[in-house]
Amino acid sequence: MPATILDGVKIAQDIRSEVSAEVRSLSAIGIRPGLAVVLVGHNPASEIYVRGKVKACEEVGIHSETLTPPDSVTTGELLAIVEDLNRRDDVDGILVQLPLPAQVDAKKVLLAVDPAKDVDGFHPFNVGLLSTQRPGLVPCTPAGVIEVLRRSNIAIAGQEAVVVGRSDIVGKPAAMLLLNANATVTVCHSKTHDLPGVCRRADILVAAIGRAGMITRDFVKPGATVIDVGMNTVTDPAEFQRFFPGNARREDAFRKKGATLMGDVHPEVADVAGAVTPVPGGVGPLTIAMLMFNTVKATKMRRGNVVLELSRT
Ligand code: NAP
Repeated sequence: MPATILDGVKIAQDIRSEVSAEVRSLSAIGIRPGLAVVLVGHNPASEIYVRGKVKACEEVGIHSETLTPPDSVTTGELLAIVEDLNRRDDVDGILVQLPLPAQVDAKKVLLAVDPAKDVDGFHPFNVGLLSTQRPGLVPCTPAGVIEVLRRSNIAIAGQEAVVVGRSDIVGKPAAMLLLNANATVTVCHSKTHDLPGVCRRADILVAAIGRAGMITRDFVKPGATVIDVGMNTVTDPAEFQRFFPGNARREDAFRKKGATLMGDVHPEVADVAGAVTPVPGGVGPLTIAMLMFNTVKATKMRRGNVVLELSRT
């Protein structure tokens, strides 16, 4: 039986509706959540991501503003921008769009963001809160992975979870969230021996590698849930044919655009797995939905006393 396709677009829409309702409740007591995005220079991919985030803010009623320092910005100038945003009471969330230009010390800039406004959840303070199971801001993509599992009624507690990838922004926090949800977690990386064998132990397999179609059917235990975080652009027609033979819809789009977006999971995995997330339309839409969620969470945590006092009156 082919795998159930887990609909990330629908789950993301549900989360955005819930966030929107929270924004309305906050605005009823005079609070409008605000997100500030720092977009340096003219990286086309970053510009597309930021446009998506700004549009999502508009849709759920969050105030957003985008600051656009030039490519030539220095670490000191960016630190001054971040410190100004840290001080502003109308800014609840700060997001510094990565990558930053080579001359900028990105770690220093990210460290300067007030942890209470760190809606990306990258600050070591929030990493510490996550690893000690305290309330904080959790990185958006891994938080989206957990939402997909929970809202699809896929059990996590007691299950074997294998995460392939150990980056600070996806692999490690995804592993920590699964551990916090009582899975038995294994984290794999480029030095893991017998990767297919380790992956085959998984009831829940999370692929966060960045290699198109690397997870083939021999990595997957029959019936397992496979969450594909990867986002890879395939432009080579031969590679396209290897992954998507006979897929007329994709082929049509590939011919028009000269490229297709695919994950780290080979399409043949759908013949073995119990459930899979598609790419596009799986984890991707969750990332922005969780950013909206985090901005409202930051608002409530930071202005909590005001929210509580006003809701009592
Ligand atoms: P990353 O920082 O490059 O990390 C990749 C991880 O994969 C590393 O831990 C690396 O191991 C591991 N890896 C690479 N080749 C491997 C191999 N042959 N066997 C086993 N492990 C291997 O990437 P990332 O930022 O975590 O992103 C991962 C993927 O998720 C990318 O495709 C990215 O575009 C996508 N992504 C999607 C979203 C979304 O919204 N859907 C958000 C963020 C990222 P080592 O540590 O040993 O090098």
